[in-house]
Amino acid sequence: MTDASADYIVVGGGTAGCVLAARLSEDPAVRVLLLEAGGAERTPAMTMPAAWPQNLGSAADWADVTTAQADAGPGLMPRGKTLGGSSAVNALAHVRGHRGVYDQWPTGWRFADLLPYFMRSERADGRDPALRGTEGPVPVTAVAHPHPVASAFVEALTAAGYPRTGDLSGRSPEGVAWADLAMADGERVSAADAYLRPALGRPNLMVLTDCLVTRLLVAGGRCTGVDYEYARTTRTARADAEVILAAGAIGSPQLLMLSGIGPAGHLREQDIRPVADVPGVGANLQDHPIILASYAARSPLPASRYNNGEAYAALRSPLADGYPDLHLFPIPGRAPATRGRLRADRGGRRPGQPRHGAASIGVSAAAAAHRPRVPDGPARHRPAGGRPEDRQGGGRERGVRCDRGGRSVAGTGDRHGRWPARLHPPRRGQLLPPGRDLRDRPGGRYRAPGARDRRPAGC
Ligand SMILES: Cc1cc2nc3c(=O)[nH]c(=O)nc-3n(C[C@H](O)[C@H](O)[C@H](O)COP(=O)(O)OP(=O)(O)OC[C@H]3O[C@@H](n4cnc5c(N)ncnc54)[C@H](O)[C@@H]3O)c2cc1C
Repeated sequence: MTDASADYIVVGGGTAGCVLAARLSEDPAVRVLLLEAGGAERTPAMTMPAAWPQNLGSAADWADVTTAQADAGPGLMPRGKTLGGSSAVNALAHVRGHRGVYDQWPTGWRFADLLPYFMRSERADGRDPALRGTEGPVPVTAVAHPHPVASAFVEALTAAGYPRTGDLSGRSPEGVAWADLAMADGERVSAADAYLRPALGRPNLMVLTDCLVTRLLVAGGRCTGVDYEYARTTRTARADAEVILAAGAIGSPQLLMLSGIGPAGHLREQDIRPVADVPGVGANLQDHPIILASYAARSPLPASRYNNGEAYAALRSPLADGYPDLHLFPIPGRAPATRGRLRADRGGRRPGQPRHGAASIGVSAAAAAHRPRVPDGPARHRPAGGRPEDRQGGGRERGVRCDRGGRSVAGTGDRHGRWPARLHPPRRGQLLPPGRDLRDRPGGRYRAPGARDRRPAGC
């Protein structure tokens, strides 16, 4: 039975999905249906920039883990499950990739091709107007009051001889800089905030949350609609024009494969009947593995006014191919009350412990006092479910274990960290769903890109 129909069905109300749904529905003659697996609520942890780590392991995170990696064990792979997707739970850094990377992409996707869209998306005042947009929906905030840890980080890298740059998204996209952040008036601006929420009043746009798309319907070689689950019932939506998959780097290939579109051999192993043998689906997974290194602070640290990071370095290792291959950011954090210990570097956990090693950075306890803002929207826009402690944003406080020089330093006090991330690792990952169901979540679902395929000299 068809429960809904539209010209365009957008699967996934994340970063890309919010933009697509908002842009498509600008034409009042086009009917758009957006289906999002997560909820619509904008929790304090999503709103308050410094509280973003609290999103990890919450109801707004799919909380995936990878298969065991050489040298590193299983890796954490957070991704947003909420309106706004990962843009509602991420670290808010608004930094373009290096133009040298885009210029390796096919024609149509090179830096010069993409620049008008970058500019169209942002509102970055005080930057070079030849390269930065000033009228887009995403407001960009520059860091005006840096955290002392971030200042020390910038000074140390500069003293070590690394170049400074005034704008990583400008003419000099390399070096140590103050990061631009996707926030305004002290609050995060996700893709849902910037694009979708302002469009919710349009009669030709229907947004349904808490709806898990479980299958793409294919007839005569065309995708004609989707099956989705809401409140434990299966429903069907039909698309008169197109179904647009915007379920993210994990969700989109996963849904394709569960619908029979992917490497036929693997699909048969999973007892999935192949509809189209497309070996590239699930392949070529790229990420930037990050090592979380935390250190106990010698004296109390102030709370961050921004994203608990603020500074950002794009640097070249000796292995770099013409553009930076390392990112580095400082993370100051205030330790909340300890509840057990957590190995940040492996993501291992004991029963009852929080899921994410990334949580070791901690956040200001002020998040708990920050009240949720319920989004405005038509009645059909259903509010999120989720656990009360997640909705309050302060109930899942994490323990800390800081690793330093191979020795573990446990602490509940303030701390600071350096998070180095390897960009463009040469090894690519692969997504292979472990079963036929989107809710199958055994630990170890993805073969993730490796962090240590080639060890940079001196590391
Ligand atoms: C913790 C974290 C920190 C990050 N920090 C930064 C940062 O500081 N700066 C930066 O530029 N980038 C950052 N990123 C990366 C960035 O947020 C993502 O690259 C980007 O948001 C991906 O957009 P997307 O539209 O592809 O996917 P997403 O935004 O993840 O959207 C996918 C959406 O699809 C939904 N979905 C998936 N499957 C289904 C299904 N079957 N049915 C219905 N809905 C489904 C999901 O719930 C989700 O809402 C971070 C990411 C994370 C997780």
